[in-house]
Amino acid sequence: MTQSKEVDKFSHWLIHRAGKCLVAGPCSVESEEQILGTAKELVPSDVTLLRGGIWKPRTRPGSFEGIGERGLSWLKRAGRATNLPVATQVATPAHVQQCLNAEIDVLWIGARTTTSPIAVQEIADSLAGVDIPVMIKNPMNPDLGLWIGAIERVRRAGIKRVVAVHRGFSTHIRHKYRNRPLWNIPLELRHRMPEIPILCDPSHISGTQLYIASIAQAALDVGLDGLMIESHWHPEAALSDPGQQLSPAQFGELIGQVIRNSESAVASNDRELGNLWRQVDEIDADLITLLSHRVSILRQVEASTSEENGISRKTWASICATRLMAATVRQLLGNGESKPGLCVSDCLHRRTLSGESRKLLLHSETNSNSDSMTAEGTA
Ligand code: PEP
Ligand code: MN
Repeated sequence: MTQSKEVDKFSHWLIHRAGKCLVAGPCSVESEEQILGTAKELVPSDVTLLRGGIWKPRTRPGSFEGIGERGLSWLKRAGRATNLPVATQVATPAHVQQCLNAEIDVLWIGARTTTSPIAVQEIADSLAGVDIPVMIKNPMNPDLGLWIGAIERVRRAGIKRVVAVHRGFSTHIRHKYRNRPLWNIPLELRHRMPEIPILCDPSHISGTQLYIASIAQAALDVGLDGLMIESHWHPEAALSDPGQQLSPAQFGELIGQVIRNSESAVASNDRELGNLWRQVDEIDADLITLLSHRVSILRQVEASTSEENGISRKTWASICATRLMAATVRQLLGNGESKPGLCVSDCLHRRTLSGESRKLLLHSETNSNSDSMTAEGTA
């Protein structure tokens, strides 16, 4: 095997272009022609590792669930033809065995699997005595403990080259991203396990091509070690995740831009402060989403409540009392004259609110000060 990028020395494959690891390739391996064509087009972008899913854990049955074992040899051949090590996702010990038989260079554990300690333990047991790098994606839910637990299980099986992959989290708050970045979680992982390299997967965070560049940029700005980005030679025809895959040309352009920006930004940026602002921005986005959800529910209440049988004074008083108590406990409200109470708009970062939406919110707060459900309902 003539591989210029060895996988037996961790730093050889992790650290690559501009000190960053770049993993790229399609969401799914679909045919030998597709994986080889995509790999060849990715070579000029200096990717570190070629990815391609073989078994696809789909949320609902009935969609493309991966090409299965026969795709492993296509993936490996594409890697050999382009001098790239190859990686795929494993979800069972049988997958691990098939990958080892096919000489796949790197394995990764997907988000749905990381969520289940029993599944992770079975995979870890099947890796005992095997020397292969393993990438571990964060669990679906924002639970750092599960992520750390999966890393520990795999390391205890004797795997020394472990990499974490931040692919965003699924939460009950609807968001513009498919999975929310919640940057404080990968940063806390960095704090707790500084020896573990962390890559970011902006494709699964974004869920569309739209935000991949800004998320990739944020990942490098917060100091993560590289990126895993889905790239397909004809994204519009992809059998899985078509909306979030980039063509190899788009990938090359995006990577060049992101790396250039991060090189010029690193020296001047106060990283810690930037990370705090990123958390403020995420919370602001949540507040706005929750408030607008609340408003829409109140509108429904309003619509189904007539003047006469509207909310009673007693119910309204109890709603006010419980909300006031919650706000006081969280130290949002002032204690009389010395500290005036905060309005919602005071809690939002200036940058979050454009001129118009700020005016709208301030107006609604003024209205909600009047003791009427109707005024509150129009907030
Ligand atoms: C993938 O990388 O294609 C994948 C299925 O990822 P995740 O586990 O992050 O959803
Ligand atoms: Mn995918």
